[in-house]
Amino acid sequence: MNIIKKKVLSIFESRVLKQGCVLDVRAWNPATFFEVDLHLPGVDMEKWTSVQHMKVKVSEYTYRDYTPALWDAETETCTLCISSDHQGPGSEWVSSLKKGDVISYVGIGGTFHKPVADSRLLCLGDSSSIGHFLALKQLALGIGEIYGAISFNMESHAREFSEYFDTYLQPIEENKKDISLISWLNEQELSNETIYIAGHSPTAMQLRRHLKQRSDFNGSIKLQGFWQ
Ligand SMILES: Cc1cc2nc3c(=O)[nH]c(=O)nc-3n(C[C@H](O)[C@H](O)[C@H](O)COP(=O)(O)OP(=O)(O)OC[C@H]3O[C@@H](n4cnc5c(N)ncnc54)[C@H](O)[C@@H]3O)c2cc1C
Repeated sequence: MNIIKKKVLSIFESRVLKQGCVLDVRAWNPATFFEVDLHLPGVDMEKWTSVQHMKVKVSEYTYRDYTPALWDAETETCTLCISSDHQGPGSEWVSSLKKGDVISYVGIGGTFHKPVADSRLLCLGDSSSIGHFLALKQLALGIGEIYGAISFNMESHAREFSEYFDTYLQPIEENKKDISLISWLNEQELSNETIYIAGHSPTAMQLRRHLKQRSDFNGSIKLQGFWQ
């Protein structure tokens, strides 16, 4: 990045960056998935009516989106669930986080995913979408219950997911030969569900193509690609 761009970004950052505090970090085994508890002073979480995402500064002039989940509006706290089973500035950042660290973020905004009343809420994604679906579950309280499947490339993480979170989301193992979420869908009878897809963008698009070809499905599909 040239010096002028850096200067402009520094001015932008000094005006818009907000701070949060890391209350706790829990690594799964192996440590390629993290739950990060945050205190975000001044954030009005009561206003969240759709699944949110926050743009976090993960290294110099570098930002990544993560989903605040399991929030408590009264204490202004939430949890990020971050997959780091790959090389990237986001992975490096989360692997280095410790209790007491201060994090910087640009802001928090809504996605198009919100619970639809009187509909079955079916969720499909990989481990990077755990926070997204926990957030949807929280928003759906009193409206309905989410269910579906989340694919994992590690059996131990699939087990931990079931142990730590009380959901109707079934952990399934990723499969090198085909898309395990499509195999899972092939075992489900569908009708007029609202289907939420999040995570790896190419897989998300393949899932949508598969659903469009299903003659038993006449519901709607909401897709939020996270990464390529
Ligand atoms: C609205 C929104 C919400 C998001 N919420 C979350 C969240 O709550 N938790 C979360 O973990 N991610 C979330 N993401 C995705 C996260 O921002 C990206 O995965 C991010 O690219 C990871 O950054 P990185 O710097 O580690 O890797 P990058 O530098 O972006 O990518 C490096 C390489 O790693 C690959 N890669 C990226 N992510 C993954 C992954 N999860 N698994 C395997 N390979 C990967 C890429 O294909 C690339 O080849 C969200 C994205 C969006 C758009």
